[in-house]
Amino acid sequence: MQVPAQFEYFKATSVDDAIALLTRHGPESFLVAGGHSLLPMMKLRLAEPETLIDINGLDDLAVIAVESDRVRIGAMVRHSALLASPVIAEHFPILTDAERVIADPVVRNRGTVGGSLCQADPSEDLSAAFSAMRATAVIRGADGERQVPVREFHRGPYETAVEHEELLVAVEVPILAGSSSAYAKLERRAGDWAVAAAGAMLRLDGDTVAEVGIGLSAVGASHFVAPEAEDLLRGGPATDDAFVEAGRLAARHCSPSADQRGPVDYKRHLAGELTTRVLRRAARRSRGEEA
Ligand SMILES: Cc1cc2nc3c(=O)[nH]c(=O)nc-3n(C[C@H](O)[C@H](O)[C@H](O)COP(=O)(O)OP(=O)(O)OC[C@H]3O[C@@H](n4cnc5c(N)ncnc54)[C@H](O)[C@@H]3O)c2cc1C
Repeated sequence: MQVPAQFEYFKATSVDDAIALLTRHGPESFLVAGGHSLLPMMKLRLAEPETLIDINGLDDLAVIAVESDRVRIGAMVRHSALLASPVIAEHFPILTDAERVIADPVVRNRGTVGGSLCQADPSEDLSAAFSAMRATAVIRGADGERQVPVREFHRGPYETAVEHEELLVAVEVPILAGSSSAYAKLERRAGDWAVAAAGAMLRLDGDTVAEVGIGLSAVGASHFVAPEAEDLLRGGPATDDAFVEAGRLAARHCSPSADQRGPVDYKRHLAGELTTRVLRRAARRSRGEEA
């Protein structure tokens, strides 16, 4: 099947209008952002919304804003805008690293931060990166805004904390002075989904790990994170031995599935190796040894 079923189409004029349309048209109404996940599913009839509510006109959701101690990234910020942002490159190189390897320019020009997080694909890259950064999801409904840590945002594959009559409006990422970060992914070919991917955020206090976040994608890590490896590193020495041990722990505690991208042992090995590499890179960046 390559043709979607019939649906009604509305273009939301504001966030409130989108919420009102979702309420009026009920559970078979879907938001459409970049459409790069939803439209292929509709063509295959894996999704058959009765109503599509287009949020592409909501320019106030397409803003990257620096606030005192955080950066607020609107849900309609496109992958390409995140990749090109000097503010993001300065504060969160993990996001710039991740965006370089998400899909291809055609997908990045349309796909959005909000659509990526809300699709909640277990191999999605930004969820791992935002989880490593301990970002917060800002969700709006008829009763106002609520905040959910990205580490609690995913309820399972393709399931999130966003209720039907709500929108994800932004992701807020804390700016941690003196921290740095990195992301690495292994893919079968350029533009493909990850075989495995890892992201790390480190704040060093001299040679000690003061704060750490580790995100994993495509390897069945609960909530896209590796808390055992974080606990091992926090408060300890920022040495290569510690980063290798953290990689071992991350590999041991993830739960990959075998598929056409590889067997379980291979993915587990990658989870460990990529974790060690991104920790090394984040440490080099925070010491000013690498851009
Ligand atoms: C060929 C290809 C390769 C790809 N490779 C990768 C990859 O390597 N890594 C990766 O991470 N991703 C990859 N993607 C996915 C890409 O990042 C998409 O942009 C993303 O999955 C969905 O974003 P979207 O804006 O297109 O969302 P849509 O397809 O418009 O929406 C996806 C879902 O989210 C909901 N939604 C959208 N916005 C909101 C909102 N603000 N609030 C609440 N719900 C919302 C929709 O109702 C829908 O259910 C790939 C996609 C394609 C087509």
